[in-house]
Amino acid sequence: MKFTYEALPSRVIFGPGSRARVAEELDRLGIKRAIILSTPEQSALAEDFAGRIGDRVGLVYPGAVQHTPTDVTAAALEAAQAAGIDGCLAVGGGSTTGLSKAIALRTDLPQLVVPTTYAGSEMTPIIGETENGRKTTQRSMKVLPETVIYDPELTVTMPPHISGPSGMNAVAHAVEALYSEVANPVISMMAEDCIRSFGEAIPEIMADPHGIEGHTKGLYGAWLGGICLGAVGMAIHHKICHTLGGTFDLNHADVHCLMIPYSAAYNREAAPEAMARIARALGTPDGPGGLYDLMQIAGRVKSLKDMGMTPDGLDKAADLAVQNPYYNPRPVTREGVRDMLQAAYEGRRP
Ligand code: NAD
Repeated sequence: MKFTYEALPSRVIFGPGSRARVAEELDRLGIKRAIILSTPEQSALAEDFAGRIGDRVGLVYPGAVQHTPTDVTAAALEAAQAAGIDGCLAVGGGSTTGLSKAIALRTDLPQLVVPTTYAGSEMTPIIGETENGRKTTQRSMKVLPETVIYDPELTVTMPPHISGPSGMNAVAHAVEALYSEVANPVISMMAEDCIRSFGEAIPEIMADPHGIEGHTKGLYGAWLGGICLGAVGMAIHHKICHTLGGTFDLNHADVHCLMIPYSAAYNREAAPEAMARIARALGTPDGPGGLYDLMQIAGRVKSLKDMGMTPDGLDKAADLAVQNPYYNPRPVTREGVRDMLQAAYEGRRP
């Protein structure tokens, strides 16, 4: 056994109704004038939080959009500076957290994040930003939120076509953490429990889309998945999803959801210990097979063909995926990736 483990600092408040603690948690961070961030669709929720924090409101800014474009950040930053804000309160999914992180990157202001999806960004020191249509990703401790309030009562409003794929997105962080180049025993424990939790949560959520029990398990799993993503490097799955998402403009969570059984299957022979943990977490004889069954329940689009990909697109994606060499337990070859994409194109059991 040989590993390096670096824990990232963060304070987590978890539980149904825990958003009631938002004002005291802002005080704990010393935030006196917060910018409250959300997407335009979640502006009512942002206003609800404004009502909860009294005179700590500096500005309500429901301007977050997908992919964290730098011009959106610049406008938010200007408004924030004009309002004299001294901290961020982000209420929403990965896109809203992304805007908060982009502001923190430029100002080093403290952040309190209240996630409403399972993306997991709130646990990572990673930020992706888009400029002139190009997305670049970097790591900086400035962007890691200081405090996170996980309140499952806020995720119950997700429609199932968002919560299912969002849950599988978190599962994908955990799966790749198990066979990461820098895997370690603590993160692997968390990864296994993330997969176990979603193995229960996803069928429950899809059967009862707004039920608090399923969403409580889901949000717990999302927290663990976020830690995995922030702590250890990812492999073939994240590379192929970024290629498919970036080049073919496919939805972030939908692509993760569809591809994770195929990415795991790609590594089936090369990462037997990870496969055994996935199988144990899902209570199935075969890890990738168990992920495929879960994807069938969670996914709204169940093949690359149904996502609008073409065989030409598969060729291009395979070319791109092998361009920059990166770690993966099984060597990444063009032929191997093309076969994996073909199986996902057909929606075949891997
Ligand atoms: P999102 O934040 O774009 O949200 C999707 C939609 O769902 C939005 O319209 C939003 O308003 C709505 N929504 C969110 N929560 C809801 C709720 N509870 N009820 C009803 N509607 C709700 O989607 P996402 O999948 O959470 O985030 C994706 C983005 O996050 C991507 O840009 C991705 O790159 C980024 N991300 C970053 C990291 C990181 O570590 N930096 C990690 C994961 C994801």
